[in-house]
Amino acid sequence: MNTVTNPVIALVLPCYNEEQILPLTARKLASELQRLVDSGLVSAQSKIVFVDDGSCDSTWSLIEQLSAGDSVFAGIKLARNYGHQYALYAGLMETEADALISLDADLQDDVAVIEKMVTSFRAGSEIVYGVRNNRESDTRFKRYTAAAHYWLLSKMGIETVPDHADFRLMSRRAVNFLGEYREANLYLRGIVPLLGLRSDKVYFSRGVRLAGESKYPFRRMLSLSLQGLTSFSIVPLRIISVLGMIVFFIALGLGGWALAATLFGPGTVPGWASTVIPIYLLGGLQLLAIGVAGEYVGKTFIESKGRPLYQVEERLGVERAD
Ligand code: UDP
Ligand code: MG
Repeated sequence: MNTVTNPVIALVLPCYNEEQILPLTARKLASELQRLVDSGLVSAQSKIVFVDDGSCDSTWSLIEQLSAGDSVFAGIKLARNYGHQYALYAGLMETEADALISLDADLQDDVAVIEKMVTSFRAGSEIVYGVRNNRESDTRFKRYTAAAHYWLLSKMGIETVPDHADFRLMSRRAVNFLGEYREANLYLRGIVPLLGLRSDKVYFSRGVRLAGESKYPFRRMLSLSLQGLTSFSIVPLRIISVLGMIVFFIALGLGGWALAATLFGPGTVPGWASTVIPIYLLGGLQLLAIGVAGEYVGKTFIESKGRPLYQVEERLGVERAD
């Protein structure tokens, strides 16, 4: 049970070049938060924390203005652009609150669901996942690729919450647990279910981006998807070994057959295809295997450097959690 009566909550929003929507987001969230404070659900100390992920537009100066005008707004400026997952991680690690709710700055995540998350937290949940109940606001392409991604993950034994992105509530304890996962290849959606603790789901329908454009073009979606696969599973390696084994046995069988045909039958026709095709086949397979192995070697390389995951350049109205 989370016995904190009026929990201090923090809404954590990674922002990368969001000048077009930030003022609207700030206004909407502030009024929603005020409503929660007024209804006695959360403490008046609650905050809205914008994490500027190295934006090159006026995002940070907007955050400065907001926090100067109202103490509910706080800001964390990262030293450069680290990417959504790292900005989110930074926001969670650097903010002191009883419960932290992460959401996108473009308000695609339904603000009205925050109340349900808090209610569930007060009833004892340590992690509350925001799950989309439809994908109508997505393009057909994004819908299919997302479905393929979640299908692959589940086939490889990686536990994720389908249709849950990064809209979630985490208790202080869950965030502390998360802080102990020191991996450079961050895929939060994969790590959070590993934390255990009592969890809950709330459903919402995801809207369209109200202003500005998506910072996740296909290239970045693909890289996030690969990150999720290769950071959590060695199944790709195993598939290669199984494939190699199958090919090996087929080749063995073919060899036996050719030998038998020569010894007891009319012999095989010396063919071009039977020589060249296996060369291509094996060549391709070997390259693929080297590529997959290389992917993991690359990850080991990056992890072994132990670089900081993020660095904070400036802080406005937020204390670092201890
Ligand atoms: N974002 C970020 N750093 C980046 C890219 C994106 O902090 O390098 C933030 C962005 O400002 C937004 C959230 O991550 O708040 C999700 O990005 P976006 O809305 O562009 O993704 P989509 O909803 O299109 O998947
Ligand atoms: Mg978005």
